[in-house]
Amino acid sequence: MKWRRQPMIGVYFRIPDDEPVRFGHYFRGWVPMRAAQAVAAIRAEADPRGFQIILGRSIPPKDIARIAPVRGVIGWRHKPDAHGQKPCGCPACMARGEPGGVKIRRAWERAEREADEAWARAAASREAAGDPD
Ligand SMILES: [Zn+2]
Repeated sequence: MKWRRQPMIGVYFRIPDDEPVRFGHYFRGWVPMRAAQAVAAIRAEADPRGFQIILGRSIPPKDIARIAPVRGVIGWRHKPDAHGQKPCGCPACMARGEPGGVKIRRAWERAEREADEAWARAAASREAAGDPD
């Protein structure tokens, strides 16, 4: 989806307001609450990007009201507000085969190696100075 220009498709369905769900931001974790509370919480967010409402069960076909393209601009290609930021080349962010990925991955690997070396030098100089930490 990241590099393909295809319409994003939404599956629309209804669940009871008091249905237990988990609500939270995609990398900050989730908390249990009722479906109506989760909807209110996501609507109250100044920047709702990245919030999820997770239902712990499947939706039976009879409860699906509509399947249609999602309208408007939603989501992001890399991460929220990534435009203008240096891309991360770690294996989690930069999958193999992505355009420009080799260059970004190698720069990330070089920076990681340099950080490891700087950390090792700092640890060695602390040890030489007699600092037990
Ligand atoms: Zn990363």
